[in-house]
Amino acid sequence: MDKQEYKGIPISPGMAVEKPYFIEQEKKEIPNEKIYDVKAEVGNFIEACHKTITKIEKMEKEAKKRVGGKEAEVFAVHAAILKDQYSFISPVQQKIECEKKNASLAVEEQLKFIEKTMSESDSELFQARASDIRDIRNQLISEILHSELGSIPTKEPCIIVTHELTPSMTMKMDFSYVKGIVSEVGGPTSHAAIIAKSLGIPAVAGIADAMEHMDTEEMIILDGDAGNIIIHASEEEIEKAKDDVRRQEEEVHQLKKYIGCPSKTRDGKTISLYGNIGNGAEARNALQEGAEGIGLFRSEFLYLNRDTLPSEEEQFQEYKKALEVMGTKRVIVRTLDIGGDKPQKAIDIEEESNPFLGFRAIRLCLKRKELFQTQLRALLRASEYGNLAIMFPMISSIEELEAAKEELQNVADALRKEGVLIKDKIPVGMMMEIPSAAILANEFAKKVDFFSIGTNDLTQYTLAVDRGNEAVSELYTIYHPAVLKLIKNIAEAAHKEGIECGICGEAGGDRRLLPLWIGLGIDELSTVPKSILKIRKSLAKLDCKKCNKLVDKVFKMNTASDIKKLLEGKEEK
Ligand code: PEP
Ligand code: MG
Repeated sequence: MDKQEYKGIPISPGMAVEKPYFIEQEKKEIPNEKIYDVKAEVGNFIEACHKTITKIEKMEKEAKKRVGGKEAEVFAVHAAILKDQYSFISPVQQKIECEKKNASLAVEEQLKFIEKTMSESDSELFQARASDIRDIRNQLISEILHSELGSIPTKEPCIIVTHELTPSMTMKMDFSYVKGIVSEVGGPTSHAAIIAKSLGIPAVAGIADAMEHMDTEEMIILDGDAGNIIIHASEEEIEKAKDDVRRQEEEVHQLKKYIGCPSKTRDGKTISLYGNIGNGAEARNALQEGAEGIGLFRSEFLYLNRDTLPSEEEQFQEYKKALEVMGTKRVIVRTLDIGGDKPQKAIDIEEESNPFLGFRAIRLCLKRKELFQTQLRALLRASEYGNLAIMFPMISSIEELEAAKEELQNVADALRKEGVLIKDKIPVGMMMEIPSAAILANEFAKKVDFFSIGTNDLTQYTLAVDRGNEAVSELYTIYHPAVLKLIKNIAEAAHKEGIECGICGEAGGDRRLLPLWIGLGIDELSTVPKSILKIRKSLAKLDCKKCNKLVDKVFKMNTASDIKKLLEGKEEK
C-alpha cells in the first residue's frame, strides 16, 4: 500500500514509531423503558454518583502525582458537577420521580442539557468544559448500568489513537508504554496537549477520522514537531524514524547528567539559566528541568480564557506558589502584558486596527490603575515568600518607567500602612523589547536593577514585521544586524551601569545563538523549561575567547543571511 501522510496540529514535540492502539469511545446504549420502583431508581442514581465521585477523586490524586496540581484541577471540576444539587442532582431526580424515566436516561438528558448550554456559551472556557461533560457522562452511565468502562490495557509500547483524549482516559494509561498520542479533535490548549507536553509524550491532534486510516498491525510514524503522521511507510522510512527516536531518547538520557550542574562554559564563565512559566504550578516543572530561577512569569496568562479578572487573593496565591517552590532562587514576575496577540475578555478594550501598536501592557496598566494596583498588591504581599523581582513590559519611554515605578512605590507605601509585611529590597527591572528603549538603554540602565531582552517583540518592532503573520514570516529574523546591534547596545549599557542583562524571548533558548550571547556578556537566559538542560550542555562546550571573536565577526556583517550562516556553522551538531 502507498505511503500516506496526514497533516494535523502539532501539540507536543518529539518523534514516535509504534503500532497504533485504538481507544474507541463507543457510546453506551441507553435503555428507554420507564421505571416503576421510583425509590429504588433514585437510590441507584445516588449510589452511582457516589461511586463515580469516589473514582474521580482517586483520579485527581493520581493526576496530582503524575502531572501536577494545575492539570489535576479538571477532576475537581468533574466531581463538582456531579455534586451540584441545583443544576444536576435535583433535575435528574425530578425526571425519575415525575417522568418515570430510568436513571441512565435521566442522566443522559440532563448532562446533554448542561453540555449544550456550555457549548453555546461565549466563554471559551465553558466551551472547553463541554468535552468534560461527555467524559463524566460515560463514567456515570457505565456505573448506573454496572458496566465497567473499557480500561486501557496496553502492556506493549504503542501510539494511542482516539477521537478525543479525555482526562479520565489519561489516568487509566500506563505512560511507560504510551509513546505517542494521535487524536481526531483537540488543539494546542486541549487537555491532551497539556498532559502530553508535561509528560514529554509526542502528540498530534486534528487528524480527522484517524482510526479509519490505520491498521493495528502496522507501524505508524508520528512527528510531534511537524504535526504529521505517516502510515504505510516503507521499511526504510520506519528504520530511519526509529533511529530518530533512539537519538531523541539518548539525548534526553544524556541530558539528565546536567541536572544540578553549574551553568558554565568550558573555561569557567558562569551564566544563569532560568525558566519561563505562565502560572505558579509550572515553577515545579521548571525546577525539575534544572531551572536556576524563573526569568519570566508571564502573569497575563492568569487573565486569559476567563470572563472575570483574577482577584488579588487569587493572584497572590499563584505568585506565592511559584516563590515558595523556587525558595531562594529568583522569580521574575512580569506585570500584566495583555493585548496584541494576547487579548483578554474581562478587560473592556475598544477594538483597535493595530493592536500590537495599541493600548496594551504597561500603557493599559497606567491608565487602568485599579487593575495595576490589584496586581502590584498581590505581588508585594507575595514578596515575603521568596526571592521576587518585578519587571515591567513594553516600556518605550522614561516617563512610562517612572510612572510604573511610582505606582509600585505608592502601592508598597499603602500596604505598609495597612501593616502588611513586604520584602525591603525587591529588584525592579524592565523588558527591553521596544527599539526606542533599546536605543536609550544607557538612560534606562540608571533607573532599573536589571534588563530582560524580549527578542520576540524587539525583532517584530525593529523590523516592522508582525511576529504572527505567515505572509511575512520570512522577514521575521533575529539574525537581522539591526536587531543584533540593538541587543549589543542594551547589553553594553547594562554592564556600564553594573546591572544584569538577561534574555527571555525565544532566542534565549536557541542553541545556535548561544555563542553570541556569551560573547555579548549576557548574564541570564530564560527559556521554556524543556530547553534548559540542552542549553547547559551546549554551554559546557563553549569557550569565551572564541565567542568574543565570533561577536567581532558578526558585527562586521551586514545581512541576516550571512550572520545566520556563520552562526549555524557554529551550532553544535
Ligand atoms: C518577547 O517579546 O520576547 C517576550 C518574551 O514577551 P512575549 O513573547 O510574552 O511578548
Ligand atoms: Mg513581548
